[in-house]
Parts: sequence; C-alpha cells; structure tokens
Amino acid sequence: MQRLIEGHKRFLAEVFPERRSHFHLLAESQAPQWLFITCSDSRIVPDMILQTEPGDLFISRSIGNVVPVSVGDVDGVSATIEYAVEVLKVPYIIVCGHSDCGAMKAALSRKGLQNLPKASRWLHHVEAAFSHRQPVNPADGDHAELCSLIRGNVVAQLINLKEQPAVARAMGRGSLQVFGWFYDILSGRIEQYDEGKRCFAPLVETAMASR
Ligand SMILES: [Zn+2]
Repeated sequence: MQRLIEGHKRFLAEVFPERRSHFHLLAESQAPQWLFITCSDSRIVPDMILQTEPGDLFISRSIGNVVPVSVGDVDGVSATIEYAVEVLKVPYIIVCGHSDCGAMKAALSRKGLQNLPKASRWLHHVEAAFSHRQPVNPADGDHAELCSLIRGNVVAQLINLKEQPAVARAMGRGSLQVFGWFYDILSGRIEQYDEGKRCFAPLVETAMASR
C-alpha cells in the first residue's frame, strides 16, 4: 500500500496544484464525450494511450470487455451504458479489446476457469467471438490465432452493444455512434473495425504513427 500512498502524496503536492482550475471545473459536473468500454487488464490505461484528461472518458471495465446481452438480469456494464447514453448523452461509445487478453486466452484454451464460477459464467458472453473471428494477421506472430479471436470478440461485443435498448434508441435518433477498437500492447497502436469492409485497420496511419 505504501507505493499508492506515496503516489497520492505526489499527486497532492505536484499534480493537483498545477491543474487546480481544471479540477474545480469538474467538481460539480461532468460532460464526457466518450463511453469507453474496455478490459480490466492493468496494461490498458485509456487516459495514457488516448492522451485524455479527467472528465473526458466515462469508462466501463470488465474482464474481456464484455457487453452482456441480458434480458432480465441487471449487470454493471448494461447499467453503465444506460446511464452514459440516457443521462450523460455521450455521442460516442468505443468497445476496446487488447492483445494478450487473459479472458480471451481462457475462452480459447478453456483452461484455468475450473475454480472461477463467476468469471466462467461471465465469459460465456465472449463465446460469440468464435463466430466473428477475424482473418489471422501474420504480423501478430505467435499470437495470431488469439489476436484474431480478440478482434472477433470486439465485433461480437459491438453487436451486443447495439442491442442495448438505450443504444438502439440513440442510434435510431442519429445521436450516437459506436466503434470497435483493438489495442496492441507491444506496439501501442490501435486498430478500428470498419463495419463496411468488415475488417480492422490502423486508427492512425502507420506513417503518421512512426513519425
Ligand atoms: Zn483483457
């Protein structure tokens, strides 16, 4: 715990004073433009990879960046989506999967879930990924099969997202757009799903990214 306490001390001493006016603006309201649905994985730090600020991203995280299709049950992700769309009126929702995802590895290998009844049940939601697998990309090396499933899971969760009633209504009104992303931890690059072409392509062109 000491590391966290030291970190918070540093935040209070160095970071907060410099950005006091921004935090004061945020103290009584938020108006995020994006609902960012991603995995709980510790290596995904949205504000770092997108260079966003406090107040920018409304975030929902769960293992496997799942958007459950639940008719009767209430779950945290669906409740968060409903709030983001109906109350915060976010114009954009992004579902972001990532390379080396432990949840998707478990789904692929079907190992390691024996003593995890809740996680195991939750990960039933990623099974649709198998029917949306993306073409294997040799650039993903030894992990190409896993990465094709992870991209497939983004597509599957995007479909689930559009079935959420609040999302369907907002999209019907033309006030909401949804996107599917794949974040590669090794290169730091993001790919976006192109629904028309049914494939993933770099969010930032390679030439731009390597400048
Ligand atoms: Zn993950």
